[in-house]
Amino acid sequence: MPSITEKMQSELALEEIFGQATEYALNYINNIGDQDPFPSPLAIAQLSYFNESLPTKGIKSTEILKLLHTYGSPATTAQTGGRYFGFVTGGAIPVALASKWLTDVWDQNSGLYLMSPVASTIEAVTETWLREIFDLDQNVVASFLSGTSMAIVCGLAAARYRIFKRANWDFNQKGHNGGPVIRIVAGDTAHGAVIKAISLLGFGIDNIEWVDTDDQGRLILGQLPELDDKTIVVLQAGNVNTGAFDPIQQVCKRANEAGAWVHIDGAFGLWAAASSDLKHLTRGMKNAQSWSVDGHKTLNTPYDNGILLCADKQALHGALQSSGSYLAYSEQRDGMLYTPEMSRRARAIELWATLKYLGKHGVDELVTGLHTRATQFAEQLRANNFQVLNEVVFNQIIVGFEHNDIYTQKIVEHIQASGDCWVGSSTWQGKVVIRISICSWATTSADVCRSVTAFIKARNSLAA
Ligand SMILES: *Cc1c(COP(=O)(O)O)cnc(C)c1O
Repeated sequence: MPSITEKMQSELALEEIFGQATEYALNYINNIGDQDPFPSPLAIAQLSYFNESLPTKGIKSTEILKLLHTYGSPATTAQTGGRYFGFVTGGAIPVALASKWLTDVWDQNSGLYLMSPVASTIEAVTETWLREIFDLDQNVVASFLSGTSMAIVCGLAAARYRIFKRANWDFNQKGHNGGPVIRIVAGDTAHGAVIKAISLLGFGIDNIEWVDTDDQGRLILGQLPELDDKTIVVLQAGNVNTGAFDPIQQVCKRANEAGAWVHIDGAFGLWAAASSDLKHLTRGMKNAQSWSVDGHKTLNTPYDNGILLCADKQALHGALQSSGSYLAYSEQRDGMLYTPEMSRRARAIELWATLKYLGKHGVDELVTGLHTRATQFAEQLRANNFQVLNEVVFNQIIVGFEHNDIYTQKIVEHIQASGDCWVGSSTWQGKVVIRISICSWATTSADVCRSVTAFIKARNSLAA
């Protein structure tokens, strides 16, 4: 019997499983355009194949890949296709996906320059590109994180570190107890990830000073409380329902005068800044102190690609520092100073590949294109007597009905079952609505037409 080391060495030498994985992956990619956006009931039922107890003995590698492709692939949501509009997700730029494949093989740890000079170098370059694309000052640094949720946590942690430091309080040593009291101000439509970060960091949800918002979910400037230098204001660039943007410029002005810290949660919306047609939405964003944004939504990098941008590098490092006798920080970029994790895969490479591929103009075209498709979708819905409830300023559309919530839910079910497109429901101003999010580069004008037809069919079959 060969040992597992011998077995794995021969697998590497034979290359068979990599060819097999490539074949399956290409097969998936080639069929994604025709695949229903949501898996069929059969595909879901067959997921029971995975429900087994931990095996005592392993099986052949080729069998494992086969299982994944046979039962896994059909049970995926077709997020990389053009007709998935659920949540706020994002497709995948082909070269970003391919770069991820290649660099997965490298299996780099981007914790320290010494652990991976290439990951560190690419992170540093990507940071300068992000500054440029968002038109931020030279002192702004980037952290490469799993997603916006973690980016908000890190941004608020940096804010806390700075505010305490100004009061001569070393947060890392002393914690909250007995220290200055930090105020948190946010619009009342703030994303769940903001609320999670606030509870995770120990600020307490009950301590949030909520600010009223208007019919689009934008914070109302006149309702903003008096700010001071112990306040963190969390703004939103892109409401998950309407896509609306808070009045960033005006709030930043007031916050700067008061010495407050502004964090902008722009998971998908911050990319408006990269579109010449849409950048008015983020006007003044430069005057905030930290920004959270995803590569994996609007920019269409593969998942696991969040970014924190922070104008206070010392506060960020202060909040996230770690020590250990074996840690050798270098003159180069040491990734772990920017993130809660020590070990971390080199996710910035997909981001780098995406920006290198698209260039500034390509990012503009991509982001503007999502808005164009959203506008088309909204116009065609309106032309067919559907009620679009929001101003379609970015990529989000919400559709409401005169009928009760059960009716709306039924329409959603009909559309989902059609296989033509997938949309989800949400709640907006106390009513169930349909939420459409245009997030993938792959969505074409024809995809939108087919999806609008699915809406019409759903309404007709409920009328019948
Ligand atoms: C998606 C989203 C988040 C959370 O981001 P993740 O990448 O899923 O962690 C936060 N805020 C807004 C506005 C979002 O759309």
